[in-house]
Amino acid sequence: MSDGDLSGGFRDPEVAKHLVDAIAALSKIPVKIMEVCGTHTVAIAKNGLRALMPETITLLSGPGCPVCVTANRDIDTAIELARLPGVTVTTFGDMMKVPGSYSSLAREKGDGRDVRIVYSPLDALALAQTEPDRQVVFLGVGFETTAPAIAAVIRRAAEEGVANFSVHAVHKTVPEALRALVNDPDVRVGAFILPGHVSTIIGLEPYRFLASEYGIPSVITGFEPVDVLQGVYMLVKQIEEGRADAEIAYTRGVTPEGNPAARALLDEVFEPCDADWRGIGVIPGTGLAIREKYAAFDALRRYEVTPPEPKDIPGCQCGDVLRGIVLPFDCRLFAKACTPEHPVGPCMVSSEGSCAAYYRFTDYGRS
Ligand code: SF4
Ligand code: SF4
Repeated sequence: MSDGDLSGGFRDPEVAKHLVDAIAALSKIPVKIMEVCGTHTVAIAKNGLRALMPETITLLSGPGCPVCVTANRDIDTAIELARLPGVTVTTFGDMMKVPGSYSSLAREKGDGRDVRIVYSPLDALALAQTEPDRQVVFLGVGFETTAPAIAAVIRRAAEEGVANFSVHAVHKTVPEALRALVNDPDVRVGAFILPGHVSTIIGLEPYRFLASEYGIPSVITGFEPVDVLQGVYMLVKQIEEGRADAEIAYTRGVTPEGNPAARALLDEVFEPCDADWRGIGVIPGTGLAIREKYAAFDALRRYEVTPPEPKDIPGCQCGDVLRGIVLPFDCRLFAKACTPEHPVGPCMVSSEGSCAAYYRFTDYGRS
């Protein structure tokens, strides 16, 4: 059976309807369920799943996209790097239009800085090898899903002695960010739909504190409509049975132990550091700093840049959107001053940002 056939079963309208009915029949206790993965945000929006929930269930979107949660200060720093003579900044396409405090990488490129889109960190390394006269900096953004590939490229740069390559690492790790959300009195999440891709790397163990310390159910789910509905059903079942566990619905993609080889690679190249999350603030231990052994490939050790004090984007409520406190169309700029063509904040830039997902799928109430 091909992957397409496999996914097809997870899009079956009959199975989806059966699960919607089962959720409605089971759910008595009101609960706010938050997804913390941009791909889930899109799946829920695209398939109109929010509207299919009974009144007892509110689906909230959380800080699911690494582009969106990148703090202004980190973008401002990348911009300062791009302004250095002889430096080429490389990054994924989504990062280009994300506004920092006073500019964006796209605007810097328009002003003549050498900023280039790459499709993988390996492309950035290859660029450094083909253009030895340039200093190539890769802006490393992403959760546990993408960080191992960047770790592999840093190790390869070291093995091959590519002296003109470095990484501005602003990766983030998910589990402790969930703790910050749970501890936030404004958020009040009752259950979590956990990210499928991140969990292929970290497994189930890092989420167990949600149940053991906070009594909050969580389920790792996949990305097709039936996956998400199955995850919601498992969460509702826990809630109605008075249980709190960390469970896996996405068994075809995630094992409880995750991917130990990828984690070993991460651990070889990176060490935990504090990270600044847009809308949430600094969360201890949720960043990945390049270890001393690979310090030569750390852009911030190689170059001294001091961006101005960061400032918020006027009128943009991305911070509250990312904490699930407001919905995108609660922002007065939504679909007016702020659209995917002319984004004001990062949640409208990234294809998996909440504002962009809500904008694209009208079932979310855009009038
Ligand atoms: S938009 Fe999607 S692909 Fe791009 S960084 Fe966010 S989650 Fe990853
Ligand atoms: S609609 Fe635009 S301005 Fe408003 S929160 Fe979303 S990204 Fe920010």
